[in-house]
Amino acid sequence: MAYRVLIAQFMHETNTFSRLPTTLEDYRKRWLIEGEAMVPRFTGTRNEVGGYIDSVKKYGWEPVWAGAANATPSGKLTKETWEHIRDMIVDAAKKAGKLDAICLSLHGAAVTETEDDAEGALLEALRGVVGPGIPIVATLDLHANATLKMARHANALVSYRTYPHIDGYERAVQAAALVQDALEGRKQPHCLLVQPAMLEGADHGRTTQPGLMRDLLAKADAFETEAGINVVSVQAGFTWADIPYTGPSVAVSYEPAAEARAKAVAAAMLDEIWKRRDESSSDYRPISDAIAAAKAGVGKEGPLVVADGTDNPGGGGYNDTTPVLQALIDAGVENVAFGTIFDPGTVQQAIKAGVGSVIDVVLGGHTDASMGGPVKAKAIVKMLSDGSFKNDGPMNAGVETSMGPTAVLRIGGIDVVTISNRIQTIDLQVFLSQGIDPRTKSVVVVKSVQHFRAAYAPIAREIVLVDSGGICSPDITRLKFTKLRRPIWPLDGVNDPYAGAARA
Ligand SMILES: [Zn+2]
Repeated sequence: MAYRVLIAQFMHETNTFSRLPTTLEDYRKRWLIEGEAMVPRFTGTRNEVGGYIDSVKKYGWEPVWAGAANATPSGKLTKETWEHIRDMIVDAAKKAGKLDAICLSLHGAAVTETEDDAEGALLEALRGVVGPGIPIVATLDLHANATLKMARHANALVSYRTYPHIDGYERAVQAAALVQDALEGRKQPHCLLVQPAMLEGADHGRTTQPGLMRDLLAKADAFETEAGINVVSVQAGFTWADIPYTGPSVAVSYEPAAEARAKAVAAAMLDEIWKRRDESSSDYRPISDAIAAAKAGVGKEGPLVVADGTDNPGGGGYNDTTPVLQALIDAGVENVAFGTIFDPGTVQQAIKAGVGSVIDVVLGGHTDASMGGPVKAKAIVKMLSDGSFKNDGPMNAGVETSMGPTAVLRIGGIDVVTISNRIQTIDLQVFLSQGIDPRTKSVVVVKSVQHFRAAYAPIAREIVLVDSGGICSPDITRLKFTKLRRPIWPLDGVNDPYAGAARA
């Protein structure tokens, strides 16, 4: 008889310092899909759900599709939002009758008004439904703030090994293969987690250049070849969360006979993260450097890509800060594509005026004026659309995305993609779908800190990452932590990675 396997997705990276609560409406803007409607939406895509869909076919499982929920990072989930998504998944498990396994696609850094460890609470609830003997596996984002509770109730936590995250599909396939091994009695996976007394580490997980994170993953790969070691996952953590569990961690899925070895593996990984805690490849520069590079590059082949990393909506940035746009206007830089500014009010103004009209805009800077007030300018309405497109990838290839009602506004020599749903600029379709070819531009501005590199590094003449004073600032002294476990590096003097740390 076919194995009955429940599959569900719950994703959110919560920036608890954001003033924007995350609502069901925010989920609907990306996706909130109940039950088996998740299958047509993700069949053929390269995300985790796409990986699980193909695994169901490969192993001949009888699937129970619970639903899929994903929203752009922002503040804490409202109680109603969290309970709706939790109940969608847990009720599906209750109604399913006998289940043989559960495969989840989680982020691992979701915080709600009532839960500091939402994924831990979800796993605990599911474990309560199916009991101790049923394998539960979860894929995690590389930026999960993973917890002991997650490890206790899961049999494996399988995190991305790329940043930009282009291996969601592969990680789901890996998790599903482990489940199949468990179902057929070849494996009995258990999970443990260690977390050092560190707020940040593992170079935020960057894998685009040789260095710490690639070294850690090479170590993890080597450990995974050992008998009894199923999965070694490194989570770099997500800094902008005021919860006890913020920071890097290591999760090891192991066979019972290899428990001691698994603990040694986790300790070796943790020691490496601790020893190399000062290593960072982050290269934030002031906006003036980007303007200088734009001026120096006039007439050269290919665009300068300016990454407005501290307003990255992928980390909870408001997606509407204006210092970079204002600086480009003030400097008179031409042939620029700017993606994006979140300003639904200005989009509606443009829709009312119509394509070809000239309007006076008060653009962006509405969420927190201390990060730069609105840009006041005359703008030509170049194009209007519903803002939907399918990602070219490599990240999230094939996944449908909606920017909501969208207007391309020409201000001086700058085409500003003005949107109604906050989204990170990771795909060339942010521009291509709006009639703008970024390859022909002198300057392309993206609201992203790292993920943009997957699609934009191949077309870029040069990349400059700027700190525009947004909420995702790398200056952690600006963040007021009240719930974080202490002591913790680098905020406190810490000489022992296990001081106040989470152990196996
Ligand atoms: Zn991530």
